[in-house]
Amino acid sequence: MIDFDNVSMRYGNGHMALHHVDCHIEREEMVFLTGRSGAGKSTLLKLIMLMERPSSGRIIVDGLDLGAMPRRQIPFHRRKVGVVFQNHQLLFDRTVFDNVALPLIIEGHPPREIGRRVRAALDKVGLLKYEKHNPIALSGGEQQRVGIARAVVNKPALLLADEPTGNLDPELSAEIMHLFEEFNQVGVTVLIATHDIALINSMDHKIMSLDHGENAGGVR
Ligand code: ADP
Ligand code: ADP
Repeated sequence: MIDFDNVSMRYGNGHMALHHVDCHIEREEMVFLTGRSGAGKSTLLKLIMLMERPSSGRIIVDGLDLGAMPRRQIPFHRRKVGVVFQNHQLLFDRTVFDNVALPLIIEGHPPREIGRRVRAALDKVGLLKYEKHNPIALSGGEQQRVGIARAVVNKPALLLADEPTGNLDPELSAEIMHLFEEFNQVGVTVLIATHDIALINSMDHKIMSLDHGENAGGVR
């Protein structure tokens, strides 16, 4: 599903965020991406989403070479990738339902289908009862679950998460990780960037480590 071959990434200010990184993630795998703050985890996720371009090397996602992808294909590529952020980036001027509906509205689905899919996504994360609430009224863990519902509502083949439990206590963090496992069990490829070593050691998934922008030993 994801293949990085000798990928380096230098930001505009000259900072080398990734050096000769290789990464191979199979379809339907769930993988943790670890490393200290600044190791290059977010950069790697941004490259997969085509929010950044590598300085060198080749990146293949879902069989497509991102370097050869024409600009007009990029929106279609992004739709294949659901993204969950640490601060979940919910909009507090609209309901939980409307937040989750956003990706489907952008894709132009008919309202009936939007209703059906949004409720299915909210049901999966256990928040159907809050569809009419403003997300500002929910707890941090619930807000993160709304963010996950929004990321999966258009059924992406690939789910990326950048420190999704960064603001949560250990118990809620474990719940969020189990939710990712449930999506993985129905065939979604999941890549989660986290520096929470204790949490990932408590789970049985492959680990990819970065250290100062380089591949670091620990692949489990
Ligand atoms: P992580 O997600 O592991 O904390 P990042 O990928 O965010 O790491 O950052 C890797 C390195 O690249 C850090 O040293 C960071 O300061 C630098 N960096 C990140 N984004 C930018 C940017 N837009 N411009 C310049 N340097 C950046
Ligand atoms: P940006 O200019 O920040 O890249 P976008 O319009 O791409 O803005 O996205 C804005 C925010 O909307 C994203 O940061 C994300 O939180 C959310 N978002 C957009 N599309 C999706 C999607 N398909 N799945 C989940 N969240 C999305």
